[in-house]
Amino acid sequence: MKKHCNMPYIVLSRKYRPTTLDEIVGQPIVVKSLKACLDNNKVPHAFLLYGIRGVGKTTIARIIAKCLSCKDSIPQSNPCGKCQSCVEFDNNNHLDIIEIDAASRTGVDDIRDIIDACQYSPVLGKYKIFIIDEVHMLSKSAFNALLKTLEEPPAHVKFIFATTEINKIPETIASRCISLQLKSIPFDTLSKYLIDIANKEGCKLNIESANIISEESEGSVRDALSILEQAIMLANDSKEIISDDILQMIGSTKLQFINDLLDNIISGKVKESLTILENIKQQGGDSFNVFKQLQQLLYRAIKEVAYDNNTKYKLSHLLYLWQILVKQTENIKNSIFPEYILNATVVMMAYTSSLPKLEEIINNNTKKETSNRAFLDEVLKQFPGANITEVY
Ligand SMILES: [Zn+2]
Repeated sequence: MKKHCNMPYIVLSRKYRPTTLDEIVGQPIVVKSLKACLDNNKVPHAFLLYGIRGVGKTTIARIIAKCLSCKDSIPQSNPCGKCQSCVEFDNNNHLDIIEIDAASRTGVDDIRDIIDACQYSPVLGKYKIFIIDEVHMLSKSAFNALLKTLEEPPAHVKFIFATTEINKIPETIASRCISLQLKSIPFDTLSKYLIDIANKEGCKLNIESANIISEESEGSVRDALSILEQAIMLANDSKEIISDDILQMIGSTKLQFINDLLDNIISGKVKESLTILENIKQQGGDSFNVFKQLQQLLYRAIKEVAYDNNTKYKLSHLLYLWQILVKQTENIKNSIFPEYILNATVVMMAYTSSLPKLEEIINNNTKKETSNRAFLDEVLKQFPGANITEVY
């Protein structure tokens, strides 16, 4: 494998890690809230950032810490980048900003160390700031120890917690923080961002390829950049990143194939659906990925129908297929023969689609009833004195 683009040995997610709030991708609400907090001098003692992996929780935590530590920032959300605090921060060397990964330091003793450190005044900045990543991993006793400090924190101490699992954070902790939810990055925003990064790396990434990466990374910037990084290594002599290369790399299958597959399933064509699956397999498509892509596409179709942007399909029909697909998710994850599960699921969905729909059956019966009633009305006209309700 040749490298065609100039790529220094820093992973893309680090190289392009935002250093200011304005550089954060796809989190407009969180950025707006933070600016309001910082610039109006309404900074809470603790922030709780939550959301799926790779959407910028740790990055935002660090930016908050940098903003709070800078002595010359005007406004507060815009650190100067020149003062000693900012310089030390950029060199990952700031004495007052302490980062802890709760995944590896879960015990009460680790938290006691933090609490002890709270007593000391900051050296460079205005605050001593503790960033605790994966905070949901703390033990119950560690949370309890932390709670006491959170209830009455010294004025010079700030906590920034980050977690992927907000449900595991005790209410007593969460209620003492300003909680900010980071969303999955919207598909279009992520695709545009990837094209921009590829350009900066001297490569060409077309929209089709960018969309494939966005789809695969499910709204996580870090995952998307990691796929882009590998894709850049596959760029051809004209520094173009070919979509087929990306698909092969991630074991994904051309969306057109999956589109055809879904169309055939919905039309109830069992044999044709199996033939497409066979073609996909020959192209090197991974069964689990095909399953995932089918689910993504069906979900998109359901959304389109629900918003009236697609009148080709019936919502009730799509929802029924969705149920079948979702029920098989655990099975395909755990199966030693994912291909069998995929094929059987597709057959099940296509076969179900070939059966008459409940609405059709009801409509047919209603039609029959209406015509019977019309006939009866005609007959009754011959007997002017008859009581119609008795007859019905
Ligand atoms: Zn500064």
